[in-house]
Amino acid sequence: FGKGVGQAVACVGRCDEAPVSFSKDDPVKLPSYIPHEKYCYATLMQYQGKRDEILAELDKANLRGLGGAGFKVADKWRFLLQANGEKVLVINADEGEPGTFKDRYCLESNPHKVIEGALIAADVIEARDIYIYLRDEYAAVRKILEIELPKIDTHGCTIHLRRGAGAYICGEETALLESLEGKRGLPRIKPPYPAQSGLFGRPTLVNNVETLWRVQDILQNGPEAGSRRFYSLSGRINTPGVYEAPVDITADELINSYGGGMIKGHRFKAYLPGGASGGILPASKADLPLSFGSLEDHGCFIGSAAVIVLSDQDNMKNVVQNLMAFFDHESCGQCTPCRVGCEKLSHMLQTTLDQELATELCEVMQDSSICGLGQAAPNPLLCALNHFAEDFT
Ligand code: NAD
Ligand code: SF4
Repeated sequence: FGKGVGQAVACVGRCDEAPVSFSKDDPVKLPSYIPHEKYCYATLMQYQGKRDEILAELDKANLRGLGGAGFKVADKWRFLLQANGEKVLVINADEGEPGTFKDRYCLESNPHKVIEGALIAADVIEARDIYIYLRDEYAAVRKILEIELPKIDTHGCTIHLRRGAGAYICGEETALLESLEGKRGLPRIKPPYPAQSGLFGRPTLVNNVETLWRVQDILQNGPEAGSRRFYSLSGRINTPGVYEAPVDITADELINSYGGGMIKGHRFKAYLPGGASGGILPASKADLPLSFGSLEDHGCFIGSAAVIVLSDQDNMKNVVQNLMAFFDHESCGQCTPCRVGCEKLSHMLQTTLDQELATELCEVMQDSSICGLGQAAPNPLLCALNHFAEDFT
């Protein structure tokens, strides 16, 4: 992983001790752990029962959901307070967006920070069950969690660790819930939102791994901790990795100050700001802030902040063809615009692309697909046709 994230520090300690720190290189070995004694989290203890104070801190930090959608975190938690029934918290650790690997970094370097954030969320919404839905490819994370979870004083919460089954669509929150219920991971039509009716029909808070990391960080270190996020930086740069940087950094700054600049012999041509789903922007727009809402006018979004850098050696038609094949493969097939649209666009990109017909098809998919996969699948193609027409001739 990148060098930019620095030393990870966990706020954990036994109840009778000051919090301890541990290195990201060895997350499992916590120095003061004594068998048969449980860890108590210091920030959790400090904020326990202080619901209004916590929500105010998250508002002050303007914390947004970092799985990709950027929904205001405190508002989502408030929905749960209005719901009736036994609440559940689900940690979405099914990180699958191409180019995204920051949740893995969080869980491998400092799983306790994420779990502490989750216990704080559970305390606020009064959930007694926490489900972790973990991408099955993250075997090292599973091992870490299996070792660490039993050591934690969960204040009465039960933490259930569940393995994903290798489907991109199961990262979509309602498909994830279906999968957790033991069914095929088919997205549900929203509303109702999980906050109203989620896992087994119970009001459910679904939060991404990094979001919960930030919750802990903000409560421990103050609202300014909310002005940073993790970027998964990859592509034609010298030092790819996970970097913690300001939420309004530009791609130019990210590439040059964190990514070590372009690889020798490569000229910066384009970047994907949000993995496969977030569209493609030309190098001439690398001075835009990567914050939520700032790329939408350009047909893009920052999403999970998976910034993939492309060079003059990359043909954009080939890039789009690759991404469309991915969406075609991962479409769950439940709704026609996405199932047929992805297949047709993929075929057109491999044979002859009728641009007018393709654009019309993209609009239908964006307007009428059930979930984010089908709605976002056309983004790379539309952006590439707009900015790199010469690569399609
Ligand atoms: P969304 O905008 O539909 O929802 C965002 C969140 O807010 C959800 O939890 C939803 O339940 C909640 N919400 C919205 N309105 C609500 C309301 N009125 N009442 C209660 N809750 C409400 O977005 P989404 O489909 O959940 O996520 C799309 C994003 O996922 C994309 O931006 C994409 O970048 C990202 N994504 C990330 C990965 C990854 O690996 N991290 C993979 C695929 C997609
Ligand atoms: Fe399935 Fe695609 Fe429809 Fe989503 S948009 S429900 S992935 S077919």
